[in-house]
Amino acid sequence: MKTVSIITLGCKVNQVESEQIAEKLETYGFDVSMGLGISDIYVINTCAVTNEAERKSRNYIAKILKLNENAKIYVCGCSSENSPDKFKKGDFVVKVIGTKDKISLADSIKSNYNEIENILSSEYKTRVTSRTRADLFVQNGCNNFCTYCIIPYLRGRETSFPLNEIEKELKLLEPIANEIVITGINLSAYGKDIEGSDGLIEVARLFRNSSARFRFSSLEVNVITEKFLSELATFDNFCDQFHLSLQSGSNNTLKAMNRHYTKEEYLEKVNLIRKFFPNAGITTDIIVGFPTESEAGALETLDFIKQVNFSDMHIFPYSKRNGTAAEKLKNVAKNVANRVKEVTKVAEQMKSEFIGKNLGLTHEVIIENQKDGYYLAHTKNFILCYIKSNKKLESNQKLNVKLISAYADGAFAEIV
Ligand code: SF4
Repeated sequence: MKTVSIITLGCKVNQVESEQIAEKLETYGFDVSMGLGISDIYVINTCAVTNEAERKSRNYIAKILKLNENAKIYVCGCSSENSPDKFKKGDFVVKVIGTKDKISLADSIKSNYNEIENILSSEYKTRVTSRTRADLFVQNGCNNFCTYCIIPYLRGRETSFPLNEIEKELKLLEPIANEIVITGINLSAYGKDIEGSDGLIEVARLFRNSSARFRFSSLEVNVITEKFLSELATFDNFCDQFHLSLQSGSNNTLKAMNRHYTKEEYLEKVNLIRKFFPNAGITTDIIVGFPTESEAGALETLDFIKQVNFSDMHIFPYSKRNGTAAEKLKNVAKNVANRVKEVTKVAEQMKSEFIGKNLGLTHEVIIENQKDGYYLAHTKNFILCYIKSNKKLESNQKLNVKLISAYADGAFAEIV
């Protein structure tokens, strides 16, 4: 049996698509593993979100050849859509495609190897993993054209998947994972291209009688409305963590980024979330050092993130992407490394305050894995718990814990 390693860089959408490729290859009889290992065949699912991500994507070719000089390599994803020629390095790279129809790589591999040893089913099946958390991919593409972002050029326009297909996929995921993350490239646009759709809440409604709890991957402010939140608040199995992209706390920078909201509107949405979900985890992404970000703009962002009081943040130094509108902007941002340090310091303080507020409270968690003698699990509002137990706990097991004290990047918790 031929072995295939699938290497995935970047976002959750890539992870989902890699799993789809893996699943199809398995039905064709290949022995598939995820990550870099010794195999006959490799699939690199690339990312182009930053220059660094593109460099890492390309470097995997050299890493693979060190492990197996006879490897056959297939490449797909945003970086190979952006610059396919940079991946066509020799005979060992058999095929390079972009972001469209990635699953067709499984057919290419099959026809190249004629290795149909064990066709389990012609029907698509979700990959069986022991993971606690599974991603439900419901939407592709983006029409927003934020000036720093290459994704709309690589992924194309917004497309929502039909609800009946999403429901079928959900049924396959439910027996595998007790937590499901609804994900998409611009998730908040779900339903815009479906006549009569109520939008993203329609996907949430599929979880009304689900055994799994669910959360959203990343949301834009436009989706946060009284109607959306009031309906979400009726679900016992909704995880009250909102990853609401901010990117900057300066209105001038937001405008230059082509983000369609002001910081005042953003704060209004955060307050609305807290009205319905008082203990919600509110997390975000920030880009530090956007070309037009002045010293005053950087300070404004620092003040604003304190005002919002995030529970956690992903902080990215600006990375210039060829082909984007921001590429042409004059760069006035200075001391970016220092700005990153300052934002990081504030983010760490806010995170520890959020954890502190949750000490003594009981939370539902789902066991993920083990580390240093602790079981690891996340609360619904996304606090990482370190749990000691004399009894063996199983991955994917749901239980209630009380948060005892802050520890590392989360909290010690005991079973109640
Ligand atoms: S919303 Fe903006 S940052 Fe997100 S994928 Fe679309 S263009 Fe890129």
